[in-house]
Amino acid sequence: MPLAESVALVAVALLGGALAGFFIRRGNAEVSEPLAQQPVATITVDRFDRLVRALPLGVIMLDRDSRITFANRAAASIFGFAVERAFGHHVIEVVPSIELEHRVTDALGGESSMGPLIVTGKAGNRTYAISAYPLTDGAKESDDVTIGALVLAEDQTELLAMERARQEFLSNVSHELRTPLSSIKLMLETVNDSPDDEVRDLFLPQALAQVDRLASLVRKLLEEARAMGGRLSLKYERASFSAVVKPIVASFEQAAAGKGVELRLQSATDATVDLDRDRFSQVLVNLIDNGLRYTQPGGSVTVTTEADEQWAILRVVDTGIGIPYRDLPHIFERFYVVDRSRAREVSGEGLGLSIVKQIVEAHHGTITAESLLGSGTKFTCRIPRRAPHDLT
Ligand code: ADP
Repeated sequence: MPLAESVALVAVALLGGALAGFFIRRGNAEVSEPLAQQPVATITVDRFDRLVRALPLGVIMLDRDSRITFANRAAASIFGFAVERAFGHHVIEVVPSIELEHRVTDALGGESSMGPLIVTGKAGNRTYAISAYPLTDGAKESDDVTIGALVLAEDQTELLAMERARQEFLSNVSHELRTPLSSIKLMLETVNDSPDDEVRDLFLPQALAQVDRLASLVRKLLEEARAMGGRLSLKYERASFSAVVKPIVASFEQAAAGKGVELRLQSATDATVDLDRDRFSQVLVNLIDNGLRYTQPGGSVTVTTEADEQWAILRVVDTGIGIPYRDLPHIFERFYVVDRSRAREVSGEGLGLSIVKQIVEAHHGTITAESLLGSGTKFTCRIPRRAPHDLT
């Protein structure tokens, strides 16, 4: 249940219409028990008053004539009014929203408007869900004489941004999955319909390559989804930095040779480093894979490892096609692809570097890219040599 609804339920169901009087009169009852140990009914007016004033949720209380009897600081800053000047004013004078006024009228008529009304606050850059509830006289449901209305404003900016990111992610994912699937289907149908061996020899390897691409995409998507859900928890171990890097570089030797690209490993000195071996390996896999994909035959990809007291540093430098200056700040964004047409046959789906960044940041490290179009690209990744906690 959203915060606004929970607070409204507490306010309306437990304390009912009495709240309106409490906020205007301000009680002074003395209580020495800690708040958490008291039954709700004995929470004092002062404490409740203080609680509502401190809430990050905007709270405005109105009397039967829609005049403001109480507003907390959050409400004042959301709608841009001074609390002292708001008292006694009609809500529309203070918050000029016709829709809000309708909701208040409904609330005064006994109807809650739980559906959020999105308004952009005074600062213009945050969005709030506004709900209005009737305030009744008496704690029991049967005493339902409406004596005023309660308006709650809840900041929804982050929630909406997350929702937008989720929608974007889903639509990108379905696009990325549908494209290779349709082409695999088309190729298999062609093979199926043709008795010709040449057709089979032409299309089956292509279909298989697409299946490989799809499998790699699904793997990256799962990684991405895990990272997005904040579930990128690391299994730290202490390892020799070059012992982590060496086998990964070796696993690309054949691919590099097949492409005519020289793959080199240069380790200055060895050092121990605390990392999640599997995850960090993935950083290296993605960086070397990109380096090889975007470097023409005759070029090179060089991996270097170094360490100082504090940091383990990994560099992957290629002599490939480079990244245009205007694209460089965006390459770590999810699904960001630099002009597909420039490397159509090797271009991926723009997930690799986003995953790399999330893994490096989960290690409390940083990753940067420098590039010169036509000359090559250098990625520098630094992670602290020691985990933030003891490894036991
Ligand atoms: P992709 O799987 O599409 O390569 P990435 O997230 O790994 O996605 O990379 C994002 C974009 O950055 C790519 O579209 C590519 O154009 C560019 N890029 C990444 N690494 C390199 C590189 N080593 N050389 C040139 N361009 C690169």
